[in-house]
Amino acid sequence: MKKTRTTDKDTATLDGVLDLIALRTAQRRSTLAIFDLDGTLFDNRTRTMFILREISEKFDSRVPQLAAAFSSFQDLSVVDYSLDVTLRRLRVRNAAEIKFIREEWARRFFSDEYQKYDMPLPGAKAYVEKAHKAGATVIYLTGRDVGRMLVGTTEVLRLYGFPVGVAGTMTIVKKEFEQDDEIFKKEVSEYIDRVGEVVAVFENEPANSNILRARFPGAASFFIETQHRPGAPRLSAGITRVKDFRPALRRAR
Ligand SMILES: [Mg+2]
Repeated sequence: MKKTRTTDKDTATLDGVLDLIALRTAQRRSTLAIFDLDGTLFDNRTRTMFILREISEKFDSRVPQLAAAFSSFQDLSVVDYSLDVTLRRLRVRNAAEIKFIREEWARRFFSDEYQKYDMPLPGAKAYVEKAHKAGATVIYLTGRDVGRMLVGTTEVLRLYGFPVGVAGTMTIVKKEFEQDDEIFKKEVSEYIDRVGEVVAVFENEPANSNILRARFPGAASFFIETQHRPGAPRLSAGITRVKDFRPALRRAR
C-alpha cells in the first residue's frame, strides 16, 4: 500500500496538545483550546432520559405509552440524537402523545434547570483542567443560548469541576436560540482568531468540525465520536477521531 505522507496535524494526539500548550506558555505565548459542550464534553443522553422519566411520571395519564415503557428499566442506549427515534424505540406511537412529549421535552431540555443531568464524557474534566493548567485559555463554544441556558451551562461546568469563570476561560454561547449553529460558529471563529492562536479544537458535529478545521488549519482538530445530527457531511481530512478523553486512548508514554 502506498505510504501517505503524515503531518503533525494528521497525527494529533491529546497529550501532544498539552505538550504544545506547555511549550508555548513557557515562551509566554497565548494558546486557545476550543471545546464544544453537547456531545463533546458532555453526554446529553442522561438529560433526555431524566426528562422522559419525569414526563412519564408527572403526566402518566396523558402519556400512557411512555409510562408503560418506564415500567421496565431503560438504559442509555435507547436514547438517539433524534427524540422521535428514541420514542419509537420506547414504543411510543400515538401521534398526540408524541406531540405532547416533544413539547414538554423541549421546554425542559433547552433550559437552565436540566443541564445538570448531563454527564461529562470519560476523562473530559481532567483533560480540560490539564489544558487550562498548562496555560491555555479554555473556550467553551456552544450553540446553547444566553437567555435560557447560560446559567445552567455555568452551573454544570462548576458542578463537575471544569475551570469556568476564572482567568484563562471563556464561555461563548448564542445570543439568540434561533440562530443557526454552523453560522454562529463560523462568525465567532473570526472573533476567536483575533484573540490569539488556536492550538486545538474539539467537536462532535462533522459540519462544525469541518468549519473550524478550515478556519484554524494550524490547530489540532479532534472529532468526538458520540452522537451528531443525521445526514452530516463527511469529515474533512486531518481531523483526528477520538471516543472520549481518557488517557488510556492516548499514546504510550
Ligand atoms: Mg456538540
